[in-house]
Order: sequence, then C-alpha cells, then structure tokens
Amino acid sequence: MPAASDGGSNAARPLVSLAAAQGFASPRALYIHYPFCVHRCHYCDFSVKRSSDPPFEEWLAALETDLTWWFAVTGWPRRLPLDSIFVGGGTPSLVPESGPAALAAVLSERFVLDGLLEWTVESNPVSLTERVAEAWRVAGATRLSVGVQAFDDLTLRWLGRLHDRETAEQALRIAGAAGFERLSVDLLFGLPGEVERSLDREIDQLLEHDVDHVSAYGLTVEPRTPLARWVELGRVTPAGGEAYETEYRTISGRLIDAGFGHYEVSNFARPGQECRHNWYYWNRSPYLGLGPSSHGFFPPLRVWNTFRWDRYRKVLEAGAGPVESWEKLDEADVALERLWLGLRTRKGIEADDATWRDAVGRRLPEWIDQGWVRLEAGRVMATTDGWLRLDELVTEIGGGVREAPLIEGGHKN
Ligand code: SF4
Repeated sequence: MPAASDGGSNAARPLVSLAAAQGFASPRALYIHYPFCVHRCHYCDFSVKRSSDPPFEEWLAALETDLTWWFAVTGWPRRLPLDSIFVGGGTPSLVPESGPAALAAVLSERFVLDGLLEWTVESNPVSLTERVAEAWRVAGATRLSVGVQAFDDLTLRWLGRLHDRETAEQALRIAGAAGFERLSVDLLFGLPGEVERSLDREIDQLLEHDVDHVSAYGLTVEPRTPLARWVELGRVTPAGGEAYETEYRTISGRLIDAGFGHYEVSNFARPGQECRHNWYYWNRSPYLGLGPSSHGFFPPLRVWNTFRWDRYRKVLEAGAGPVESWEKLDEADVALERLWLGLRTRKGIEADDATWRDAVGRRLPEWIDQGWVRLEAGRVMATTDGWLRLDELVTEIGGGVREAPLIEGGHKN
C-alpha cells in the first residue's frame, strides 16, 4: 500500500504529534494478537513465537502498556464503548484457564464491554480443551473460530499441523458443547497437486457439525517458510490456476447448497451468522489493534505494530509506543480501498459512485455477460467467478492496483 505520508520505522513520535493535531477517531472494534504457538506450521509467516508454555502474564502486561500508550496519546476518554473484540493468533487457546477472565478485567478498565455485539476467539484443535473453551465463554467470548484447515490426516501432516482429523472433530464437539453463540471453522484449499485430498469428503465431514460460519483461505507460498523451500527445491508445485479455481468453486457451491451465503471472497455464513467484526475492516470503520503485528485504522491513518513479540515487549518496556509504522491515506488511496473492500464483499460498490462511474460503465456489460458481476439495485457485486479475478476487476476499475490493502482477518490458523 502506498504511503502518502511517511511513517517510517521509528514512528511513535510523529504519530503522537499527529494525534495531538488531528485527533484519532475512537475505535468500536478491537483486534488482539496472541503471538504464541507450540509449533510453526509449514506455510505460516505470521507473527508467532514458538512456545509450549507461553508467557501469558508478560503478554497481558504488555497489552496493558499498549493500551495505556494509546489512551495517553489519543486522549480518548476512559472506558470507550466497544462493539466487537477479535482475539486472534497465534494460538489463543493456549492461554491458561485463568487467562480469559484476566484479559477481560484488563479490557474492562478501558472499554465498556456490556454492549459487545460479538467477541470472537480463535483456537487450535490441539489446545482446545473443554476447560479452556468454557473459560473463554465465561469471560464473555460469544464466537469461537476453530482452525481445522482440513479433515484429512495426511494433508494435516503435510501442512505441519499438530492435529489429525479426529482431534479436529473432537475440537468441534467441544466447541459445540461449550455454549458459544456461534461457531466458525477455517479451511485451507489450493494445496499443491502432490497433496492428495478429497475436498468433497472433507466438506461432508465439516457439515456433520453444527457450524454456522466457514472461512476458506487459498494456500499462499510465503517467503522463508518450509513450504517456500520445498517449492524452490522443486519438491512441490503450487496449485495451478485451474485446480485452485475448481476447489474454490467446489467449496462455494457445496456451502451454498448447504444453506450458507457466500458473503465475502473468503467467508461463508448461515443467514444472520456473518462475522460482525470483519465488517469494521471492510466498511473502513476505526479499529484498534493490540499485540505484535496488529494493525489499527483511524481514518485516514493506518498503523502497524512492531511485528515480533520480543521486540514488541522490549519497546513497550522501554516506554516507546507499540507502533512501528503508519501511513496517511490520500484521496486516491481511499478510493482504491473503498473499491477493493466493496468488491470483496456481497455488498459490492455503488455503480454510480462518481469515483468510478465511467470505468464501471465501460466494463459492466462485458463483466455481466461473463458472469463475473451482478448489477442489483444500482450496486455492482462480484459473483464467485468474479471473486476469482478480483485483482483484475479492481485493477481495471481502479486504473491499477498498487498493492492490496492489508486487512486483519485472514488467519489461517
Ligand atoms: S498457521 Fe496458525 S497455528 Fe500454525 S503456526 Fe501459524 S499461527 Fe500458529
């Protein structure tokens, strides 16, 4: 994403000046990153520190310092109302049983949690015990996301996941019994052809559970991961366009047949069960990110926290802010984000918006003909086939996508 204003790596001081000069919109959504995993999966480049005994107390203390910094810098009134919390990772199911209540206590010093519409927590099948699930629910979490990824043992082993199919099934039973209002599952697709799996059979297994939301992410080859090395060595070939598209269509078609709506490029939900948190990102509403690698958005500013846990902890201990870089969006950036974020959701974009009316008008008849978009009530909405070429659509309308906006939420764990 282009930087209209230079954030730089030592970003806290200019950001503080900016906060004083223009103020920061108070966030209604909060993302919290728990950066610990027992083991790193073969494809993962997230901000993760390997640990079988994560330092929960240190993490919580750092989070509290992070919060104190933000409230001091922005001048937000104490105890802001909040609509949504998303605790992602990493592996938030690795927290001790006392952890969720301790986190809720820290958050309630700064936020009014009574009016929360949603509190999601991510979990890994290996560490999701009945007691941990219960602890999150009692602390206030309403929605549990389980990082299943696949229901096939060989595929899971190839991905470097620590669980097998039975553990995934057991985690879903635990999640279902724990009494969360809603349950989501993450699935990975677009694996190299060398990995033999039966996606149809796996979707059958998924549908045996009382799941009301599915996030399906295409596997990407990230630099410096074991997967990237395997590709370099020629041991595996990333899934080609056709295989990728077939799997995407299979997931979309099967879930739609089962009563889910395909409401965003990677997300499916039964009626009324969409993830509310992500709409804050897609609608470009202000949100705060806490923890290493988290992002925040305070229009027109996007901010990024220090990526690695060790450094994040140290900068906070030293009294510096958690933010490592930030940028101020100009009008062109904002237009591009609106276009990109609009087209990736079922809401689509307004065809008559002056920013892109002419470009849309030129391309629309052909795109409708190709089945890539629909025009309904003056809005242009991508179809499943359109989402497969989202970059292309945005580029053609936007006159060149410089880089996709970096948005929280794509957590393949
Ligand atoms: S993919 Fe998820 S579970 Fe695996 S290492 Fe990364 S954050 Fe941890």
